[in-house]
Amino acid sequence: MNIIQKPSPNFTAGRNGKQIIAIVCHITAGSFPGCLNWMQNPVAKASAHYLVNKKGEIYQLVQDKDTSWHAGIVNKCTWNLYDGTNPNRYTLGIEFESLGEGLTEPQYKAGLWLIDMLVKKYNIPIDDSHIIGHYKIDGVNRVNDPGKNFPWIQLFKDLREGMEVADWMKKIIDDALTVGLITERHNPTEPVQKWFVLAIALNLLKIVKR
Ligand SMILES: [Zn+2]
Repeated sequence: MNIIQKPSPNFTAGRNGKQIIAIVCHITAGSFPGCLNWMQNPVAKASAHYLVNKKGEIYQLVQDKDTSWHAGIVNKCTWNLYDGTNPNRYTLGIEFESLGEGLTEPQYKAGLWLIDMLVKKYNIPIDDSHIIGHYKIDGVNRVNDPGKNFPWIQLFKDLREGMEVADWMKKIIDDALTVGLITERHNPTEPVQKWFVLAIALNLLKIVKR
């Protein structure tokens, strides 16, 4: 995939010493190319690092090392990693061209490719604390950003399938299977639910009682 550079003046140089820890997904609520032009207009005082349009084209407006202005207003925040400072400093912002109707197939594929590349580049965990919607930062004026049609479930599934399973992860699964902590070969990159934790605890009790 190709990233087309379209620099915007709407950014702050650097990140004030912060590391990138998360990706914030947005929808433009306007059509292309108007949404791109708007984010390049100094009057907007808004931008994002990337914009993915319906055709599946990826535009970069602000460099990753710099702070784009995509989620600076914090309002009824429900994001558990919010540290009380401007979220723009430690996030990457991706805008998807949409009025809330969901993503086109080429747009989804481009967005998936982009997010997959970024999580690998910046070691961002694949979960809903580290890949979030704008609504988690502004729960008043951005409730529908990116909206109920955004393909979260498919996105997390596809991102996890693209994760490499390292040899040390496979060894842990094998060892756990050998001693009876688990009873089948699980995908080590899958998130854990409560039943799984309890099942392992119960298996451990059985082993200890033997
Ligand atoms: Zn937004």
